[in-house]
Amino acid sequence: MNKLDYQYPRVELDLKKLKCNIDQIVSRCKDQGIGVAGVIKGFNGIPKGIMQYEASDCDYIATSRLEQLQTAANLGVTKPLMLIRIPMLSEAADVVRIADVSLNSEISVIKKLNEEAEKQNKIHKVILMVELGDLREGFWDKEELIKTAVYIEKELKGLKLLGIGTNLGCYGSIASTPEKMNELIEYAEKIEKEIGRKLDVISGGGTRAFPLVLKGIMPKRINNLRIGEVIVIAKELEELYGYDISFLNQDTFILKAEIIELKGKPTYPIGEKDYNAFREVDEYEDRGIRKRALAALGIVDFVFTDQLKPTDANISIIGASSDHLILDVEDCKENYKVGDILEFKLSYSTLVNVTNSPNVKIICK
Ligand SMILES: *Cc1c(COP(=O)(O)O)cnc(C)c1O
Repeated sequence: MNKLDYQYPRVELDLKKLKCNIDQIVSRCKDQGIGVAGVIKGFNGIPKGIMQYEASDCDYIATSRLEQLQTAANLGVTKPLMLIRIPMLSEAADVVRIADVSLNSEISVIKKLNEEAEKQNKIHKVILMVELGDLREGFWDKEELIKTAVYIEKELKGLKLLGIGTNLGCYGSIASTPEKMNELIEYAEKIEKEIGRKLDVISGGGTRAFPLVLKGIMPKRINNLRIGEVIVIAKELEELYGYDISFLNQDTFILKAEIIELKGKPTYPIGEKDYNAFREVDEYEDRGIRKRALAALGIVDFVFTDQLKPTDANISIIGASSDHLILDVEDCKENYKVGDILEFKLSYSTLVNVTNSPNVKIICK
């Protein structure tokens, strides 16, 4: 089969900028006794990206998808690999084979992991997830949590209880506060009392918990964070909460696309009103004839049109369909022509989509 040698659309990953962000976050966490699990799911585990984490001082390489941990394993990564989505019962054998650590909340899965670990002659490490109110994964019944911890410690020879963790700010829009962290520590200490030893890991969350490090108010016993966004894109903490994170690069990943049509066109559609490609009838503002560009990529690639940001601030995105992005370029100083390349900054949720699109080339610089 002949390979297409198209160059656009493409995502460019600046490896130096990524490494710099990893170092900045890891050193700030280390200063407060916190190890970092570098979460690679945001960019679908691009191999050269993974190697930047391998070359850093982070403690683990982590992701929600086993395929990406397999990629890391195939690269010969030496850092321990952490699976941060509760494993499927059906993937237990692969989890034990590929991951060193997994986050867990179901006894049936935990028993299966133990069985597989014994079969494979391995000790698989588990972190039990605690539900603190954000209502995604984790033990809600805290007696069940403690019973499970004790059971792993005393009965399951193939597993090691590494610690406990929690996740906030994913579903229930619940803040990572010192109070929530202290609640997690309380459960850790209850478990420690029952098993008669200290837990190695108390994992307080992801990017949304990092401000507690920035402000120096992270409770002492939290010694692990699983960090994705603030390393990879580094926008959320600034845009949502106004934190100064100017020590981080926000352009580690850039999306580039080619102009395929450039014409002056009316802004108000002409003809009888009907549905658009998404079965909606949109509203349009009549701004007369304006210069518009079509770029060769679409919703299939980026999913969330409103989260693309043209680096030329005079460009505005006026719409998109599956394979086309429609841009108003009337106010641009640059005199664009067909074949020119436009650049876009990405959000975290857009990055995961464009790096997952088979139509988008990935270039590491
Ligand atoms: C995605 C994920 C993270 C990383 O979250 P960020 O907000 O990207 O830092 C951490 N833990 C779990 C369980 C996750 O699913």
